[in-house]
Amino acid sequence: MSILIIADVKNRTINPSTLEMLSAAKKIAKNNTMPIYILIPFGNIGGDSYCSSEFKTFILDLNIEQYSAHVLVKYISSVIREVNASYIIGMHTPFSIDYIPALSVSINAQCITQIHSLDVAERITVTRGSHAGKLDHHIVINDTPIILTVLPGSFEPYTITDVQTQHITTIHIPEVNKHIYCNFITKDMKDTSLDEADVIVGAGKGIGSRENLSLIYEFAKVFPHSAVAGSRIVCDYGWLPYSKQIGITGKSIAPKVYIACAISGSSQHVAGIKGAKTIIAINKDPCAPIFNVSHYAVVADIFEFIPQFIDFVQNNA
Ligand SMILES: Cc1cc2nc3c(=O)[nH]c(=O)nc-3n(C[C@H](O)[C@H](O)[C@H](O)COP(=O)(O)OP(=O)(O)OC[C@H]3O[C@@H](n4cnc5c(N)ncnc54)[C@H](O)[C@@H]3O)c2cc1C
Repeated sequence: MSILIIADVKNRTINPSTLEMLSAAKKIAKNNTMPIYILIPFGNIGGDSYCSSEFKTFILDLNIEQYSAHVLVKYISSVIREVNASYIIGMHTPFSIDYIPALSVSINAQCITQIHSLDVAERITVTRGSHAGKLDHHIVINDTPIILTVLPGSFEPYTITDVQTQHITTIHIPEVNKHIYCNFITKDMKDTSLDEADVIVGAGKGIGSRENLSLIYEFAKVFPHSAVAGSRIVCDYGWLPYSKQIGITGKSIAPKVYIACAISGSSQHVAGIKGAKTIIAINKDPCAPIFNVSHYAVVADIFEFIPQFIDFVQNNA
């Protein structure tokens, strides 16, 4: 029995979230009684720094230009068999979810996606959100092998202290079929305002229309060094550009304060706000899941609360 982590890849390099999977693996490994392996899916993407005496690293000598889920599944499956992996961990990102369903079928393993925590007692229990984050499923693992995908931002990143390259094994891949070649296209997002703002005000579907964004902009103006962002639905509707989308398929933010306005708090949105020092949520539904992760909860209609708040600040400044 062993644990295999499959490094995540973003912008042609290893996604640092890979270190979160190491923390999850260390928990599962229960006092290091189970060996941990890391598999780096491509050569020349910085895999050399993901090795240590604590775990063994495999690098697939595959050019990222030759990426295809089909090829990855074939070689990852053979590594899984070689190390007799019982727990296979990937990140829940566009890269991993491209090949993980096929991997699950290939090795005949169950797959539990988007886990955000795990508990290791006599048996391992993983937790994932459901019903737009309103419920948590606790799933006890009875059978292995099992594949888990981890929601980014759910575990503290592990720190590799002793990088030791002698623990790397490179797996040479013969020439792959060029007909299955495909490539990643990353959308150009030059907007840095969300990286620099101290306060970010997030708009959710509950704002109702693009015109109502003016209220959110007025609200943001109350705070110095502020910026406006939104949930995916708001960007899908075209009310804000995708460069302003927060979440697992948008930006991860780390402002001093994040104010979520009429945002329900889906796990995909929450994955992008975990770096915020203080989270304030305004929602008219007292059971909105965003309140589970917020430090301050305002149960109110934004169209009543925000004008009164602006009025109060302007008359008391
Ligand atoms: C693969 C995948 C990736 C995704 N990636 C992302 C992502 O990166 N980012 C993201 O945000 N989402 C993402 N989503 C979508 C996500 O699942 C949710 O659908 C989305 O986050 C919900 O947006 P919302 O909170 O604005 O809308 P809703 O869930 O519809 O919530 C609206 C909220 O507004 C409240 N409300 C309504 N009117 C008012 C009012 N007048 N005053 C106060 N409160 C009010 C309601 O009570 C409700 O809680 C992804 C989904 C998938 C499947």
